[in-house]
Amino acid sequence: MSQRRFATRAIQGAVVTPPPQQPLAPPLYQTSAFSFDDADLYAETLRAPGRGMVYTRYENPTTAGFEALIADLEGGAQALAAASGMAAIATVLLSLVPPGGHLVAQRELYGGTYSLLRRHLPRCGVETTMVDCADLDSLRAARRDNTAAVYVETIANPTMTVADVPAIAALADEWGVPLVVDNTVASPALCRPLEHGASIVVHSATKFLSGHSDVVGGVAVFADEGRRLAAWEHLIEFGGSMDPFAAWLLLRGIKTLDVRMSRQIANATRVAELLAAHANVQRVYWPGLRTHPTYDVGRRVLSGPGGFLSFEVDGGREAGRRFVQATRVAKLAPSLGGVESLVSHPASTTHRQYDAAALAEAGIGEGMVRMSVGIEDADDLCEDLTSALAQV
Ligand SMILES: *Cc1c(COP(=O)(O)O)cnc(C)c1O
Repeated sequence: MSQRRFATRAIQGAVVTPPPQQPLAPPLYQTSAFSFDDADLYAETLRAPGRGMVYTRYENPTTAGFEALIADLEGGAQALAAASGMAAIATVLLSLVPPGGHLVAQRELYGGTYSLLRRHLPRCGVETTMVDCADLDSLRAARRDNTAAVYVETIANPTMTVADVPAIAALADEWGVPLVVDNTVASPALCRPLEHGASIVVHSATKFLSGHSDVVGGVAVFADEGRRLAAWEHLIEFGGSMDPFAAWLLLRGIKTLDVRMSRQIANATRVAELLAAHANVQRVYWPGLRTHPTYDVGRRVLSGPGGFLSFEVDGGREAGRRFVQATRVAKLAPSLGGVESLVSHPASTTHRQYDAAALAEAGIGEGMVRMSVGIEDADDLCEDLTSALAQV
């Protein structure tokens, strides 16, 4: 190096040698590309995933570390990280359903997914029938000859309907098509849909996996390696790959997923009890309450009721809006699953893509408030909610 001139040494001089000891925290490979000494090896490495690193849109060691971790936690063969939950969902669906194909999906879906199925997939020649997945007969009736996949959410917000994943997986299996489950709201800490017969799990890693509201990311986990390859081929050319720094933050966040979830459940238990007993609250939706329509399904499919709930305040749309404006400890913000408690009003925000009829059909009341319970002190949360309810 010493015979090279100043500018060249400044660019090429840094050498960071991996030590023989394992770092306790995984290294962040914040690089867009990897260099080769051998032109043939470069060409060979490019031919398929898993042969080595070439370009971060295809593969990156930090991202691969995140993929291996989530594949293990979900009990899958392989995972594929994406730039967001929506990138993971769109990639998986486009790779599974060919033009002219048909999708059967749950009628209560995350707003972005609903919009993808209703507005964008039809332009790719993919039609979707949306049904009440709690009703297996209507699910069965939705099948067509060209049905290529079934899509549900483990816990669908804001009604917190728990999908009977084993029963739906058995039906999809009968049809010979994959069941895709959005496991964002349960997280693998509470449910591992692949163990119940699903073929693919998708996540908004932005939520519980990150846990700290500082990452946007997504991931798909595959029971079968062939489907991962098909999705990867779509991902790298539609371009929704995960950034390595996001993968690094996710590797860090997932370490505390289990303890965060325990505390969120403990806090949600206090919050749900307070709300259920309150005179200005008509109804509470949380799978941990015996009054919840899918309480029994939850007991079979989930190892705990989670930290996400909704409730209907007296007074309709205006009361819902006033309530979310009045809380102080719980912040008014979208998203969920982080350490901080958040509230929102679905009818005017996350489910704004639904018209009045679609809202009613999905069981979303106009005064419904959605709350992601964080890990703050439960007494502060309860005081905050009591005070906000008094202002509605
Ligand atoms: C947030 C969310 C998504 C979308 O994920 P992004 O990371 O925001 O793209 C999909 N499904 C569910 C259930 C979500 O909560």
